[in-house]
Amino acid sequence: MRLHEYEGAAIFEKFGIPVPRRGVVRTVEGALRIADEIGFPVVLKSQVLVGGRGLAGGIKTAESSDELEKSADDLLNMEIKGLPVKELMISERVKIAKELYMGITIDGYSGKPVAVVSTEGGVLIEETAKHSPEKIASVKIDPKLGFYPYQAQKLLRQLGLAPKPLTACSDILVRLYKVFEKYEAIIVEINPLVILENGGLMAVDAVLEIDDSALFRLKKSLSLPTDNRLGNSLENKGKEIGVTYVDLDGDIGLISSGAGLGMASMDIIGNKLNPANFLETGGGITADLLYKCMELILMKDLKAIFINIYGGINPIHEGAKGIVKYIKDHHLTLPIVAKALGNHQEETWEILRSGGVHVVTQAATETAVDKLIDLLK
Ligand code: GDP
Ligand code: MN
Repeated sequence: MRLHEYEGAAIFEKFGIPVPRRGVVRTVEGALRIADEIGFPVVLKSQVLVGGRGLAGGIKTAESSDELEKSADDLLNMEIKGLPVKELMISERVKIAKELYMGITIDGYSGKPVAVVSTEGGVLIEETAKHSPEKIASVKIDPKLGFYPYQAQKLLRQLGLAPKPLTACSDILVRLYKVFEKYEAIIVEINPLVILENGGLMAVDAVLEIDDSALFRLKKSLSLPTDNRLGNSLENKGKEIGVTYVDLDGDIGLISSGAGLGMASMDIIGNKLNPANFLETGGGITADLLYKCMELILMKDLKAIFINIYGGINPIHEGAKGIVKYIKDHHLTLPIVAKALGNHQEETWEILRSGGVHVVTQAATETAVDKLIDLLK
């Protein structure tokens, strides 16, 4: 469960990490009141559960009440990556000398927490990792032993910071690890951690995502609403209809009947095209479910659809009826390729073909994807 920036900032503050003065509001009047309290200039920050709000226009600054009024009104009527902006955090605008990055997440290979720091703050750490990996340093943490200032200092020394910010940064990193531990996080991130013009440090953004499997332990102490907080509205919709939906950037829709099949299909599509999503039905396919899956993936602009379903425990011929009903109801004309093997496969093929779906019967998934590419030409 990902927390809002203001929720994360409140937790960081409790753990002694310096954060800007701020308030959360839902109206323009509220924004004016908070700005009067903390004094201009202020930053207006859309509270939506996605990253990259800055680039998407979701962060503005204001020097005066007039500016604030206009910007707050703009932001409160805006959507960021499909999410309506309902709340704004109004925070003091700090004077930035340098933006750094620090974060802690779980390293998938070792299964241990890993602390990552970089001199490149305010940008995506994945981009830095790609283009300037020398500007990133990281260290794995043994959760049984904990994380101590000398380890944080050793890590941060690799960034070539001056002694004063180095000590202050390692203090913050150790506190950040305490947050990570206490909240059973899968990621905590301060991006950017800023060095102020006066030499002080401040966490200007707060990312905290709790491991869903740990929520039952934390629910009481959190006193936060824990339902329905997924970052993406389409992912929420997937949850509602009972499928796993992960939103991606591309334009090829994907429906699969299992996680492994889905991931393999996604990778193979990704070699030559760009998947728009990963949708896995799990068991329990019905005509109605597949109808809803089609509806869900088509909420995005798609160039084509790839369906990879396997008839083991799933009645894929029933699913095929839902797919074809959707195609006919909506007069779909975009290319659809399906690979459907297993129980009732011949019946499934016949149904799918009656809806104009290109069925690949004998080949590997690679060949089926090649068929899709042919159709797109
Ligand atoms: P994100 O784009 O969703 O990660 O939102 P952030 O909270 O990280 O804000 C994006 C960028 O806005 C930061 O990297 C800063 O460059 C800038 N920003 C945010 N708060 C302040 C502030 O108080 N002062 C100044 N000068 N810039 C700020
Ligand atoms: Mn940020």
